[in-house]
This record gives sequence, structure tokens and C-alpha cells, in this order.
Amino acid sequence: MYVDVHCHLDMIDRPVEEVVENARKKNVKAIVTQGVNPANNWVVLKIAEKFKEVIPALGMYPLDCLNLKDEEIDAELDFIKKNKDKVFAIGEIGLDLKEDSREKGFEKQKDVFSKFVLLGIKLKKPIIVHSRKAELDVIEILESLEAKKVIMHCFSGKMKLVDRVVKNGWFLSIPANVKYSQQFQDVVKRVPIESLLCETDSPYLSPDKEFPNKPENVVESYKKIAEIKGLSLKKVEEIIEENFKKLFRYIAEDKI
Ligand SMILES: [Zn+2]
Repeated sequence: MYVDVHCHLDMIDRPVEEVVENARKKNVKAIVTQGVNPANNWVVLKIAEKFKEVIPALGMYPLDCLNLKDEEIDAELDFIKKNKDKVFAIGEIGLDLKEDSREKGFEKQKDVFSKFVLLGIKLKKPIIVHSRKAELDVIEILESLEAKKVIMHCFSGKMKLVDRVVKNGWFLSIPANVKYSQQFQDVVKRVPIESLLCETDSPYLSPDKEFPNKPENVVESYKKIAEIKGLSLKKVEEIIEENFKKLFRYIAEDKI
């Protein structure tokens, strides 16, 4: 069974039924789809109710949180708490300095990120983390809050920070565009396979010219990991499934 631990099913410009069906045909049997804001979290939950392969993560994207009032953010934390039996992970959360928001709103991003990390710890759910140009800040917050079940999605920090992620017992999810990306290939070389997971981040980061990206493409991550580690595809599939189940071990019977 293949697993895509990070995508945005609702943002793919195709009917969800078709996307999930095509993934199923390629043996992609668990698709963790991310919520990025209140309206989107609600949609993610609704999709997950319909398809047993779809595993909902609810969160707050760092740039989205800048448009919300404190009360709205607290209300979302409450919404997740209330739905804790249906929510399998907290994500997508994190820090993003893409738009040079260090001056305008970075403190708020850090505050909101910390609140969601604490919620994940309290609910004993894995935390799926986005970081862009703020990798060290993200690690420092997670360490200070003693987060244990962490997936670093598309982590682009320096190798020194990659090592720190591994040392903390956290996971790195490798996107399908590792097919071409030297940077992610270097991460795969550096990191023991026991710390790896696979993702697509679809509809973004397509491994091919064909857009949009889709969960079925996660197989490309597995293939590249097999090539780099000198293992069979079957062996990689088994190890990544084990890694996934370690993190999502409480997963409901009716899911995978
Ligand atoms: Zn994402």
C-alpha cells in the first residue's frame, strides 16, 4: 500500500471521486488531505466522510492565519477539539516567510503555530508542519513544546537542520518531485529510511509537466527512494507503511 501523507484533495482541479479512484487503482490506499483555514477544514472533513482512503488533517496555514482575528482562531481550535474523533492529524500548520512577513505578522504566525502544536500534543495527533525560510524557528518551537509526533513536509532546511529533525525522532515527507529535485535526493541519501514518508503536496509540486499533481503520483517518491537506497520498491513500500502506521497507529478500522 502506498501512502500520500500530504496533499490538498479539494484544491485539485478534478472531481474528488475521480482523483481518489485513480489513486486506489495505483494502490495509494491512504491519502492525508490538509486543511488550511476554517472554511477549508470543514470541506476536508466532509471529503473524508465520503472516502475511506481519505484521512483528514485539520490546521491553519501560516499565511491564512494573518487574515483572521484571534477569536476566529480560537473558534477553530475549539472546532477541532469538538471533532477530535474525526480528525487524524493537525496540519497544515507552520511558519512562512515567503512574503517577507517577518515584520508584518511573524509573531502572530509563531503564536498561532504554537497553539496548534499544543493542541496536537494534547489530542495525541501527528502534527504536519510547513516551513518556508523559517526552518530553524519551526524546529525551535517544536522542541520547546516537546512535540514528538511530527512530520516535516517538503523540508528545505540545511542538512544540519535535517539531522536535527532526525535526531528528534521526527519524520520527513519526501515529495514526488524528488524525481528531479537534487535537494530532496540529497535528503533521501542523508536520512535513514525509518525517518521517511512520502507525499505529493498535490495539486502543487508536480513531478511531471502534466498539472495538476495528484496523489497517485506519490509512487514517484517511492521509486526514487528505492533507487537511492538500493532497495526494491516492495521493500520501500513496506517500510514506509510501517513508518506511517507508527505515527497514525490509532487510525480507525474503517479508514485503512
Ligand atoms: Zn500543503
